[in-house]
Amino acid sequence: MQTSPSVETRPFRELCADHGLTATHQRQVLYEIMQRMPGHPSPEEVYARVKKRIPAISLATVYKNIHLFVEKGVLKEVSMHHGSLRVELNSHLHHHMVCSRCKAITDIEEKDLGVLPTPGRLLGGFQVERYAIDVIGICAACQKAKHS
Ligand SMILES: [Zn+2]
Ligand SMILES: [Zn+2]
Repeated sequence: MQTSPSVETRPFRELCADHGLTATHQRQVLYEIMQRMPGHPSPEEVYARVKKRIPAISLATVYKNIHLFVEKGVLKEVSMHHGSLRVELNSHLHHHMVCSRCKAITDIEEKDLGVLPTPGRLLGGFQVERYAIDVIGICAACQKAKHS
């Protein structure tokens, strides 16, 4: 398995050039802000922060650029089936714990998840490249909220 170099350490212009994307000031601000946000920010959360630096920006523009980042491979999209677009800045292999109540998505390292079967061939000759596991449950904060 190949590990790609961490995107975070590379200059934005270089990153854009590599992915065939024009590096605009707006995109750079957007990317820098997302880098500083922990976890898997939603476009609305990103918008709230970007607005402070670029007051004229609209939520639609933020959406459009995040989609473009995903489309060009600058960012990775976290699985779609949790209702809202969430993107990934953590470029090393990991899995996710998803809270079914507040939809918080937290990274979990492979070693913390336990031993997984070695990638090989599955039914029908399907060749496994990697696993991306969603552990669905209730996060600690939501458990506390329920009992108080
Ligand atoms: Zn929760
Ligand atoms: Zn993640």
